[in-house]
Amino acid sequence: MRAFYVRLRSVFGEICVLKILLLIAIGFVVLAVIRSYQRSLNKPSAPAKRETIVEDMVKCAHCGVNLPRSEAIYSGGDFFCTPEHKQLGKK
Ligand SMILES: [Zn+2]
Repeated sequence: MRAFYVRLRSVFGEICVLKILLLIAIGFVVLAVIRSYQRSLNKPSAPAKRETIVEDMVKCAHCGVNLPRSEAIYSGGDFFCTPEHKQLGKK
């Protein structure tokens, strides 16, 4: 009978260890889920927050190609795509 109790206790002991391990595992999983959730909250949703820089498009007075204003060469009231076209002037 005593041996039975010892065996019972050891079985319960194993169950307790398994429960503790299971709780630790669950704890890690919960922590990982919370962390990933927080990360997804902190991370800005890419399409919504991405600012699209809409730049003015200007037309080359020589060849008529459209290019951003910042890349265009302004001369005498007209925009040009390249210094060559600026030299060639308005068509
Ligand atoms: Zn041009």
